[in-house]
Amino acid sequence: MAERDPVIVAGGGPVAMVLALALHREGVPFVALETLAEPFVDQRAASYHPPTVEMLDSLGLAAEIVPEGLKAPVYRFHDRLSRETVAEFDLGDLADELSFPYVLQYEQYKLVRKILALHGGRADFDVRFSHTVTGLAQHADHVTVDVELPDGTAETLRGSWLVGCDGGRSIVRKGAGIDFVGFTYPEKFIKIGTYFDYMEQDERVAYRNYFSAPDEWGNLFKVAGEPPLPAIWRCVIPMRVDETEEEATREDAIQARLQRFFPKDGDYPVAYANVYTVSQCVAETFRKGRVLLAGDSAHVNNPIGGMGLNGGIHDAMNLASKLAAVWRGEAGPDLLDLYSRQRHRAAADFTQAQTIANKKQLEERDPAVRKTRLDELRRTAEDREAARTYMRRAQLIESLEAAAAVT
Ligand SMILES: Cc1cc2nc3c(=O)[nH]c(=O)nc-3n(C[C@H](O)[C@H](O)[C@H](O)COP(=O)(O)OP(=O)(O)OC[C@H]3O[C@@H](n4cnc5c(N)ncnc54)[C@H](O)[C@@H]3O)c2cc1C
Repeated sequence: MAERDPVIVAGGGPVAMVLALALHREGVPFVALETLAEPFVDQRAASYHPPTVEMLDSLGLAAEIVPEGLKAPVYRFHDRLSRETVAEFDLGDLADELSFPYVLQYEQYKLVRKILALHGGRADFDVRFSHTVTGLAQHADHVTVDVELPDGTAETLRGSWLVGCDGGRSIVRKGAGIDFVGFTYPEKFIKIGTYFDYMEQDERVAYRNYFSAPDEWGNLFKVAGEPPLPAIWRCVIPMRVDETEEEATREDAIQARLQRFFPKDGDYPVAYANVYTVSQCVAETFRKGRVLLAGDSAHVNNPIGGMGLNGGIHDAMNLASKLAAVWRGEAGPDLLDLYSRQRHRAAADFTQAQTIANKKQLEERDPAVRKTRLDELRRTAEDREAARTYMRRAQLIESLEAAAAVT
């Protein structure tokens, strides 16, 4: 028998909105609760790997977002010390198996905005801003969720299931008593957006770049920004362990950091600078009773390789079809344990392993180990089959296959 109560989604970020849209297309009623008054211009994620673009296409979004983003089929690894380009990977080499053989560069806040612009006006697309989830209780056949309303008063909502898409500090995860297992890096990362066009100055630069350096590695990516303003190049660079956010975001410190990374005449035109604490954690389970987790509430990782949001969207898509089948009474709740096992495998064995390895690769200090790693990367890029295997892992194709194989 179909359930009566809507699914409650905690959060209104990108994973929540993709889940909401996927549930909507399945005909499952939902209420999404977002603590902020309006969508936040979140400058974190901007890289969508090919399988993720394909999933967004299945929700009718690719035709909307691809023309507004930048297609990046190629990415490069550079050695900042020798200034040499060590490796280039071209997703065109996987064109035989990909519908979208490129990484789409598209800021995550634009995805949220787009979904809301296309669907937010409908009565059955129920997204409530300035609604904060403050607590939850589980019952045999429903959940209740405590919500703080815009006027400061409280309300208790009844739902069939509660999905925590409320980010790394998830109150849903904590309220359900689910452990978050992992560690936090001692150094923070700073992301600086600049209008300076690196590609115009240096032909080695592609839309997506990784720079290895024992003292200060860096990632450099181009995003469209907000036309007619110029496109933005985003540099992600580690901070010193003893450096405070206040020190790192001072104008002179930002300029000095950008000059160390890529010396040039004159000041950099800076669009924004944000500091992030970075952790590697996975929830022990993505389901406890009628509570489910997806996105950062279930797993967080460093941004090298651009995997966090991609994995969250993969969670949302996997979960939506299973939750719809359970909600309609076509499958038992055990199907949601399969969701948990499948996506836990992808997060723990692939995304965590890959992002930790990516950071080690870029920051390696031992000159001999560093040389060996860079030589290996060079050989991988030069061997077409090895490069294909590498890209299948880096673009999360392998993690999706491994997750699908979990029964
Ligand atoms: C520097 C950096 C770069 C990154 N780049 C990439 C990239 O290129 N590709 C990639 O895949 N990933 C990237 N990531 C990771 C990516 O940003 C996150 O994985 C992504 O934002 C997770 O989306 P989410 O919807 O799960 O969580 P969030 O984006 O954190 O959204 C959670 C939402 O829940 C709301 N919320 C929180 N608590 C409550 C509550 N109690 N009640 C109601 N609402 C609540 C919040 O306000 C927020 O809107 C990057 C991360 C960083 C730090």
